[in-house]
Amino acid sequence: MAGLVVAMDGPSGSGKSSVSRAVARELGLRYLDTGAMYRAMTWWMLRQGVDLDDPEAIAARSGEPEITSGTDPDAPAIAVDGEDVAGPIRGPEVTAAVSAVSAVPEVRRRLVAQQQAIMDESCRDGAGIVIEGRDIGLVVAPQAPVKIFLTASAEARARRRTAELTGTTVEAQQAAMARRDTLDSTRAASPLAKADDAVELDTTALSLEEVISEVLRLTKERTP
Ligand code: C5P
Repeated sequence: MAGLVVAMDGPSGSGKSSVSRAVARELGLRYLDTGAMYRAMTWWMLRQGVDLDDPEAIAARSGEPEITSGTDPDAPAIAVDGEDVAGPIRGPEVTAAVSAVSAVPEVRRRLVAQQQAIMDESCRDGAGIVIEGRDIGLVVAPQAPVKIFLTASAEARARRRTAELTGTTVEAQQAAMARRDTLDSTRAASPLAKADDAVELDTTALSLEEVISEVLRLTKERTP
């Protein structure tokens, strides 16, 4: 499995994180959550009071925060300027604002370069890496031998996300996720899209274990 890259894309609530971490663990690979990096950038912008309706202001400040991301599937870590932000980046403020920040090309240019450096290092030093996000198969790792595009019905995705959170309803989650998916899929810079050579897996009727074993099967099939 030396140098193996597994690219995992899909909309919010499709199960990317749980599946990616389990597959990385099972195969002894590193794991990178690129969404956490966009969230960390957004957390910093909000704290700095940057006007998120102003893409030029976001671009101008995007080189300032130092975002560091761990690659241990058992203990994913994310920090900004040395401060652990794993908790706050999952909050409602960041979730509502992240699509505006991730749509800015300069933000993407910086974070993609960082993600590719982490990928290259993982392939040099270890067995390889599972990378999850929205543009992994098309932009971050177009050469990845294994590309998975996870989907699920809007209702199933909202139900899963609601089970992870408190103080929300399936209806409210479904509306919030639909808004974020529309923004992520229609932006000009690397919108969420399936690569032609990615395998699409609809997880609506599958258990987590079934999805993991299907991804492991596809990975073994595509790796010498
Ligand atoms: O995966 P997660 O829901 O944490 O991603 C948060 C946001 O980060 C997405 O809604 C999207 O706007 C952005 N993102 C992205 N490209 C990626 C990963 C995430 O634009 N590769």
